[in-house]
Formats: sequence, structure tokens, C-alpha cells
Amino acid sequence: MGAPSGRSVTCPSCAFHFKISPEEVASKRYRCPHCGSGVDLGTEPPTVERPENFVEVFSTRNQGDIALLKSLLDDAQIDYYVLGEEFLSIYPLIQPARFFVSTGHAEKAKLILKSIDTNSFGVSRS
Ligand SMILES: [Zn+2]
Repeated sequence: MGAPSGRSVTCPSCAFHFKISPEEVASKRYRCPHCGSGVDLGTEPPTVERPENFVEVFSTRNQGDIALLKSLLDDAQIDYYVLGEEFLSIYPLIQPARFFVSTGHAEKAKLILKSIDTNSFGVSRS
């Protein structure tokens, strides 16, 4: 292999694409220049240190669920992010996509989750 050249990553928090340095690759930690989230690649899935408080409300391995839920959360203007979504195309049976919403929006998000058909959902959390 050639000289270390860093690595392209996608921020799990805001989906911003950027390149991290060889030092950051080696340390398995980096900070997103876009949203400020710290990301720890040493855990599986990577741990995101948000500047605000977010709670996990839902996880799924179903791409259709992800698209549906995103549109619903967007419509409701809920602050959220999806962790591990990009892993679905690589490890579809291993890593679910996990939805996090800001704590202030958690109750609203749960109502939305209850209002839709959850039969196809993998794991729902309350
Ligand atoms: Zn980010």
C-alpha cells in the first residue's frame, strides 16, 4: 500500500461527506466539520457525541421504513438524524438504521411512530 492518505467518511449525524486525516483514521476519532459532532469509530456502531441531547426512538433494517419515517419526521419538522443508514447497503442483516430525535421532539416523534403501521418495523422503542 502507498502512503496513508486519510479516508473519506460520511458524518453519521448530518450525512456530510468529508475526508479525515491519517492521524484521525489511526485514532478512530474525528469531529465533523459540518455539525460539530464527535465520532468514535472504535465502537460498533460508531458512537456519535452530539452537541445536543438526542434519544434513540426507533431502529429498522427496512429501507422503505427509513424513507417513510424520514418524510414523516421532515413533515413534522422534527430534529433527527439517522445512524448507520449507510451500513444497510453493506451489512443489511447486521446493522439496523437507528433514528435519533432531539429530546424536545421525542414525544412528538413517538406519536408519529404510533400513528403509522409498524408491522414491518424491526425494532420499535418506547
Ligand atoms: Zn456532521
